[in-house]
Amino acid sequence: MEKLSLRKQLTIIRLYLSGYSFDEIAAQAGVSKGSVANVIADLKAGRMLIRLLFRLGCRISEVLALKVEDVDFEQGTVTIEHLKARLRLFCPNCNGRLGKTHAFCPRCGGNVDIALT
Ligand SMILES: [Zn+2]
Repeated sequence: MEKLSLRKQLTIIRLYLSGYSFDEIAAQAGVSKGSVANVIADLKAGRMLIRLLFRLGCRISEVLALKVEDVDFEQGTVTIEHLKARLRLFCPNCNGRLGKTHAFCPRCGGNVDIALT
């Protein structure tokens, strides 16, 4: 069985979602019809989810939040919205570090209405 790049697999999925037949997909993507069938079977079985987790190196929540428009099929890229962004918050008065839930600065004791990022 031929080993397909993630980009090639995404091309096959795009063509499949566009309604092309396996024969048309195989011709356009330059792969065998068997390879097209394997990629679509993986997609349906959820193995594509595992592959995306492994290849993209992201969290399952990030993969599950992916939308079709996040995948650039032409460039072969996937835009991941990082759900666990590391926020660094600072006090506007003394520049001390703040936690997300801090209402008062632990350094200067000032009331924190708007923390700086
Ligand atoms: Zn402060």
